[in-house]
Amino acid sequence: MAKKRLYEVAKEMGLPLTELFKLLAQVGVEKHSGFNTLEEGEYQALRELFAPKPKEPTPPAPPPPTPAVELKVEEKVKVEAKKEEEVKERAALLPRPPVVTVLGHVDHGKTTLLDYIRKSRVAQKEVGGITQSIGAYQVEYNGKKITFIDTPGHRAFTQMRQRGAQVTDIAVLVVAADDGVMAQTKEAISPARAANVPIIVALNKMDKREADPDRVKEQLAKEGLTPEEWGGETIVVPISALTGQNVDELLEMILLLAEMADLRADPKKPAEGYIIESYLDRAKGPVATAIIKDGTLHERDVVLAGTAYGRIRTLLDERGRPMKEAPPGSAVQILGLSEVPPAGIRLEVIGDLERAKELASLRQEEEREAKLAKTKLSAMERFQQQLRKAQAKELNLILKADTVGSLEALEGELQRLKVEGIDLVILYAGVGQINENDVLLASSEEKGAVIIGFRVDVDKKIGELAQAQGVVIKRSEIIYELTEWVEELLRSAVAPKFEEVKLGLAEVRAVFNIPRVGVVAGCYVREGLVSRDARVRVLRNGAEVFQGPIRSLRRFDEDVKEVEQGKECGLRIENFNDVRKGDLLEVFILRKLQPA
Ligand code: GDP
Repeated sequence: MAKKRLYEVAKEMGLPLTELFKLLAQVGVEKHSGFNTLEEGEYQALRELFAPKPKEPTPPAPPPPTPAVELKVEEKVKVEAKKEEEVKERAALLPRPPVVTVLGHVDHGKTTLLDYIRKSRVAQKEVGGITQSIGAYQVEYNGKKITFIDTPGHRAFTQMRQRGAQVTDIAVLVVAADDGVMAQTKEAISPARAANVPIIVALNKMDKREADPDRVKEQLAKEGLTPEEWGGETIVVPISALTGQNVDELLEMILLLAEMADLRADPKKPAEGYIIESYLDRAKGPVATAIIKDGTLHERDVVLAGTAYGRIRTLLDERGRPMKEAPPGSAVQILGLSEVPPAGIRLEVIGDLERAKELASLRQEEEREAKLAKTKLSAMERFQQQLRKAQAKELNLILKADTVGSLEALEGELQRLKVEGIDLVILYAGVGQINENDVLLASSEEKGAVIIGFRVDVDKKIGELAQAQGVVIKRSEIIYELTEWVEELLRSAVAPKFEEVKLGLAEVRAVFNIPRVGVVAGCYVREGLVSRDARVRVLRNGAEVFQGPIRSLRRFDEDVKEVEQGKECGLRIENFNDVRKGDLLEVFILRKLQPA
């Protein structure tokens, strides 16, 4: 046995997965995202721990511990007790349904799959079925619920991430078995990975004669999604969204991943969630769909979402039926907001209406100011400022080129760039025009990202979107123009370093306190020169007492630029009046170092 599926192990041991995780933690195997198989060694360790052990003779009682040891034990007990508390707190939370997004290349069957699941799992119980989509729906399988976001495509996904919304718990990547991994398949993988959302692959259109699952699995492995059966960790379920073949297995695997992610929430808390869709209805006013991630949303609750607020007038489920409350993991339509909130924005319950109104107007003010500040700087200046402010160690790039060959050439050239203190990270590299996705991916990155286009175009709409999102796009037909630009950007991002260049040394021979002017040091230049534009370090008995720029330099009552060795001068130091006879002044300038 090379690897064993976790849920098989759980089945074999007669344990729920959550219990299995606890046991695994005891043998030092921690849960992580995409974790669904056990290595042979891990499996053995687990079995060993639970195999009946031969009885050992009772060891002699240990000697009483010394006080020092006792203290350590006490500390340990405290830490353990704290851990226990956390476990207990977590145990008090109840499992909630997973929120699933369907991603994939155009025409690979996302809509067909979402429709099939909705029809087969929801509509059969409801005469007439769902009349209108609210952006999400919930299905039940084996007595467990799954919430599907009904806007297929990673556009919605990326747009939400851009606002920092972690709406999705699991991503289903639909790949047509006849067509294989395509540009948008790859594009969908990066945001899901970046958001640390587990990916499950639905290998669709298996009913077609041209279906070639092995070829697709190979392509998936190349993208870092090695199928389980090939020793990887990615669950790949062959399905047909058209006939419904194996869709149940897909639902089962989604529930398995959800169980492994141990999604929990506290239904007693006030609701927290995200807006996933919204519009203005002439009759009803602003209408918004929210996914509740934690807590329960009640009818008549006061909510705040961005700058929209209000007491909920009506809560509707996906079938347009009024509901009293929306539990964790559910999707719900809200009526009664003051304005239409954008998708991806957080929704919170606020104590009272007045307070919500106040917070909304504070936010409005903030947004207005941020907008003003934005228009003053170009996108490039803002990006550089952001990099410097964050003391960024990385510069994120998204590369687009006209052909695979030019893309490789560009990547190769960029990889040769080296600027100390900052690394290049290529978030995504693809062939084709710069599109909306690239812009959204760039703006969803916390540290930002720039888009580099080599021999590709940007259409007007995308250019405007980039500008609105503050995303910098650089494109050219010449590769070196691009690499030079990136190098310049890297250098500008690194905080400049300075080196001291010594100019001279002066000795304070007298101090004059001149009314309304301040303290003037009468100096003799012992070495080099003193320049009006230099800085001085004041040394007293060999130790530095102050450092700062020269404020004025005079010779015989005349302002001068420089005074050379062997001559005398009067000198004032900026912000320093405590200069004394006998002090030595080291004169130097700071020179900006070009980063290596
Ligand atoms: P989307 O762009 O990813 O949402 O793709 P659609 O769901 O619109 O599907 C694109 C086309 O593929 C439609 O004509 C579907 O009928 C077809 N299609 C989707 N799933 C399957 C499948 O499992 N088998 C077959 N034969 N066709 C499918």
